[in-house]
Amino acid sequence: MLNEIAIISGKGGTGKTSITACIIPFIEDLVIADCDVDAPDLNILLPGRITETIDYVGFKRPIIDYDKCNGCGVCYQSCKFNSISEDIVINKSTCEGCKVCEYVCPTDAITMHDYTIGKIFKRDTYYGPMVDARLIPGEESSGKLVAEVRKLARLEAHKEEKSIILIDGSPGIACNVISAITGVSKAIIVTEPSVSGLHDLKRVIKLVKTFSVDAKVIINKYDLELNLAKQIKDYCELEEIEVILEVPFDKNMVLSISDLKIPSINNIPFFESQKWHDFISYLIQN
Ligand code: SF4
Ligand code: SF4
Repeated sequence: MLNEIAIISGKGGTGKTSITACIIPFIEDLVIADCDVDAPDLNILLPGRITETIDYVGFKRPIIDYDKCNGCGVCYQSCKFNSISEDIVINKSTCEGCKVCEYVCPTDAITMHDYTIGKIFKRDTYYGPMVDARLIPGEESSGKLVAEVRKLARLEAHKEEKSIILIDGSPGIACNVISAITGVSKAIIVTEPSVSGLHDLKRVIKLVKTFSVDAKVIINKYDLELNLAKQIKDYCELEEIEVILEVPFDKNMVLSISDLKIPSINNIPFFESQKWHDFISYLIQN
């Protein structure tokens, strides 16, 4: 059975991608799915060879043939998203692709066409196959793009006979996060000991609870603010969510990431600890 693990965080800047990168060398039999499609960055640490690039068509959008248009304004009056101006120009950034304008146009001047909103990449990396994607800035539907990345990662796992998919999810609680955790075996929430870290952790815990996912919390850099780390642990206890790991701050972690390298067991003593190995054992068990 496929073991899908999502690494998420209530907010950006908690070290979610760094933690994901640290996990990768410890798990064999892995497909990596970078589902942070608004700001994908795992590929910077795991450069790999691109084996396939796929245009992602989110939905169709209208194009007006002005040779056929008689300027009647029916499309302008009918668009509930105010995406057509009085002088009959379509605003693609607000258009929802609902097709109403195509339907009401009396001269068939409007037709719907595929619209690429992002690109998906399949890569061969040192640690295994990776699927990642980049949403075109300003485009929406990132939840659908995340679902597509996960679908391709599953196909890759099937083809390469891998049993684990490690998902680097988006920060926050929006549809792209919902899409990243839907149907996973485990959700690991990475937080940090700060007021905003605790605030956003509460929101993301509320979200994962509605999905009945087996969720656990990592407090990253816990020793930078012990009082807030304690408040996070107290809150997790109240919510009956286990804090599975408290990761100490290590400047070598920062240096490795800024050198575009995955932090390694050679310079991070914490990776030799029993706590880290117990955590990896939990991840790989089905
Ligand atoms: S409904 Fe059709 S014909 Fe009328 S203004 Fe719009 S595009 Fe032109
Ligand atoms: S497809 Fe829908 S949202 Fe887009 S311009 Fe036409 S009526 Fe408006």
